[in-house]
Amino acid sequence: MGTREEASTAVVIGAGIGGLTAAMGLQRIGWSMTVLERAPIIAEVGAGLTVWPNAERALDALGVEIQSRSIPTISRGNLRTPSGRWLRHSHPEDVGVLAIHRADLHDVLRKELPDEALHTDAEVVSVSPEGTVVCADGQKFTADLVIAADGVNSVTRRSLWSGDPVFQHRTVWRGVTPSGSVWPVQESMTLGRGVQTGVLPLPDERVYWFLMVNAAQPNQLYGDDRAEVLRRVRHWHRPIPELVAATPEDQVLHNDIVDLDPLPTYVKDRVVLLGDAAHAMSPDLGQGACQAIEDAVVLTAALAADKLPEALQRYDEQRRARLKPMKEAARASLKRTSNTGLLPHLAVSIAARLAPPAAWRKATAQWSEWTPPELPR
Ligand SMILES: Cc1cc2nc3c(=O)[nH]c(=O)nc-3n(C[C@H](O)[C@H](O)[C@H](O)COP(=O)(O)OP(=O)(O)OC[C@H]3O[C@@H](n4cnc5c(N)ncnc54)[C@H](O)[C@@H]3O)c2cc1C
Repeated sequence: MGTREEASTAVVIGAGIGGLTAAMGLQRIGWSMTVLERAPIIAEVGAGLTVWPNAERALDALGVEIQSRSIPTISRGNLRTPSGRWLRHSHPEDVGVLAIHRADLHDVLRKELPDEALHTDAEVVSVSPEGTVVCADGQKFTADLVIAADGVNSVTRRSLWSGDPVFQHRTVWRGVTPSGSVWPVQESMTLGRGVQTGVLPLPDERVYWFLMVNAAQPNQLYGDDRAEVLRRVRHWHRPIPELVAATPEDQVLHNDIVDLDPLPTYVKDRVVLLGDAAHAMSPDLGQGACQAIEDAVVLTAALAADKLPEALQRYDEQRRARLKPMKEAARASLKRTSNTGLLPHLAVSIAARLAPPAAWRKATAQWSEWTPPELPR
């Protein structure tokens, strides 16, 4: 059983943002860990990410600096109509959000870990509550603790818990423009009827954009995703069509939006769920990866302070209490923004226009004013 004094071991399943952050945390408190990633390389998708102050503080607690790889942004503080009319303007310093390319955040985290801890082409196919993990090639790992950070379709959650992802009748396209191709641009979110587009400048004169729309069925395929997005935004204000057109066709990502119903626990004996594997939510609050980072820091602090069972219980209680209202808020937000009715759409637009920026900041502060627990130096 892992205590602070013994050299404890962990297997982390998944080298996404959550898994890498957790591995860093464990490394910091002297655990020996193995990270298993099914992909042939450790990498992230070509899209942007908003990192809110709660996650910035959590990264800071781990000694991770991302300011030099990101730029301050406003996220949802600037709202426009599809014709380009401004509904709301905010100031980056009021909000304190950072915009970063996912690959850059991933790279920063990856560099903190020793190569020998990271195993690629290691697809986990089964996990036992006692802490044994088996990969598709037959390799077996046993550890004091298994951290399942294997994303929304987690094989760990499917085998030890119940709970499949819930399709939210939304689908999203994302892309990042090549450096300098459309620049400068101002960050904004554009609200159509049941449709949203986001524009987020990134370092090196790149721009992250997304288009989120309603979808009757999951897994709908479009031969040419970029052409499909252009078809949908061709009459929208500049620079949205230009950003899409500038993005290489094969780099446009398309995913359905799925989330998870709340789980009764994130812990089974020696196995703990972390990040999207535990609490995937729609991107409406821009907090999914931020919460994976928070999870990692809370777990690290708990393991540093207590024996394994007590530490896992503390993690479980604290994280579920934090995530429950946030997941409800993400679903409520998704319901509002996916409504295609004229009156609800006008209500959202008028509220955005009339509510002072302070009201929006207050609404986001309930998630971003979180402070990480102390970690040992
Ligand atoms: C459109 C969109 C926009 C978003 N915007 C934001 C935002 O602005 N800010 C924010 O904080 N969050 C945002 N999110 C949410 C964020 O992307 C996720 O919450 C975050 O990436 C979850 O990280 P994770 O490490 O838990 O899981 P993942 O990123 O899914 O990583 C899981 C890893 O596990 C690996 N894996 C899976 N199964 C196995 C297996 N069996 N064996 C071994 N390895 C395995 C995968 O290959 C992957 O590397 C957004 C999400 C979407 C869809």
